[in-house]
Amino acid sequence: MAELKAVVFYDRDGVRYYRCPRCGMLFRDSKEYTRHVNRSHGHLFRK
Ligand SMILES: [Zn+2]
Repeated sequence: MAELKAVVFYDRDGVRYYRCPRCGMLFRDSKEYTRHVNRSHGHLFRK
């Protein structure tokens, strides 16, 4: 399955975040991120 690559970064507490490169939404959880991509941007991969 194709995926948008998340922008991963850490806040000052060392908490990892995933940011969607297309719309800028933030996620704490890679599963949440993947679900968001599939739901909101999934049409990009269905060509
Ligand atoms: Zn997005």
